[in-house]
Amino acid sequence: MKDKNFGEEQGYFGDFGGRYAPEILTDALIQLEKVYLKLRNNPKFVKELNYYNQNYVGRPSLLTFAERLTKAWGGARIWLKREDLNHTGAHKINNTVGQALLTRAMGKKRIIAETGAGQHGLATATVGALFDMETVIYMGAEDVRRQELNVYKIKLLGAKVVPVTSGTATLKDATSEAMREWALSVANTHYIVGSAIGPHPFPTIVRDFQSIIGKETKEQFKKKTKKLPDAVIACVGGGSNAIGMFYGFLKDKKVKLYGVEAGGLGNKPGEHSATITFGRPGFLHGTKTLIIQDAGGQIVPAHSVSAGLDYPGVGPEHAYLASTKRVEYVSVNDKEALASFVEVSRLEGIIPALETAHAFSAAKKLAKEMGKKKDLVICLSGRGDKDSMEVSRLLGDK
Ligand SMILES: *Cc1c(COP(=O)(O)O)cnc(C)c1O
Repeated sequence: MKDKNFGEEQGYFGDFGGRYAPEILTDALIQLEKVYLKLRNNPKFVKELNYYNQNYVGRPSLLTFAERLTKAWGGARIWLKREDLNHTGAHKINNTVGQALLTRAMGKKRIIAETGAGQHGLATATVGALFDMETVIYMGAEDVRRQELNVYKIKLLGAKVVPVTSGTATLKDATSEAMREWALSVANTHYIVGSAIGPHPFPTIVRDFQSIIGKETKEQFKKKTKKLPDAVIACVGGGSNAIGMFYGFLKDKKVKLYGVEAGGLGNKPGEHSATITFGRPGFLHGTKTLIIQDAGGQIVPAHSVSAGLDYPGVGPEHAYLASTKRVEYVSVNDKEALASFVEVSRLEGIIPALETAHAFSAAKKLAKEMGKKKDLVICLSGRGDKDSMEVSRLLGDK
């Protein structure tokens, strides 16, 4: 359904999205939307963003053929889009650089952010240092424990970390706390939302800054093979690396798109973070989307071995793309993801993030189904240094 009152500019993706924020934040969201709409095609802004992407983030990131994975899996040719090679080790920096430039354009000097695995906190603290902005990161106390290394790095970069102990002390709670804090400090503070979630205009802004992933992939793949890939796959937490990868391919109907959610420990409520597979429409953090909830509409805590996928909602554009069936969403459980974490490390010499390991696990099955002579691109959203201690605790010294 698309009409003038229901288009993307109003923040709707079909029936999903919108701006369901407390009144105190509405002015800031409208200001952000105005500034963004003015700047997004402004040549000076685009030039500046390109400058930082090339000279700080390290773009374009590589697209590499994975010879050993292709051989071992015995199916489609496997290609890796190497977002793990970006400065700070994941795709998150694509968005924080863009939003830091918007913060500066709004004349604000302070930034806050939520973080799960700590990658978004790290990427935000990094631009806080680069652009000289006071930075505060909200992080669930459970994730502070799971992601000690990133917590130290965030502090080293000069940012403050606030552990959040409410709820399950993970990403949802950190996001709620950051939104609450933003309502109190909105006059001088910008909230750099880290995924394609939250009230309009965040899902659109985050998607646009991440869409460089798919845009580069398409160009690089065409240059190497003179065609488009047959399928593209990415893991989905809030959905920013996935929508960034998919966006440039949405109109290429021949390219199959797959999103991979965290299946956790099992299919019962509380055991997983497979929002699209098991969720129902509802409202969370200012947007209408699919949510893992009980019969009474209460949010059920999510679980995943990977802190970055541990979220009971999903970006509204993914809810929409699932409803139109343009993207197929599958899930991978904790055990399968851990096995892929080890397999990819040994076969390619690349330690993937635990989040990304979910995409690899689903890709392994898919590659076999696709068969030889087909091409499958995996979004390698980040590197697994941050997860190595936790995995060694879970698996032992194998
Ligand atoms: C944060 C993170 C994710 C999950 O977030 P999305 O918004 O769904 O991309 C996936 N991979 C890595 C490496 C991350 O840091």
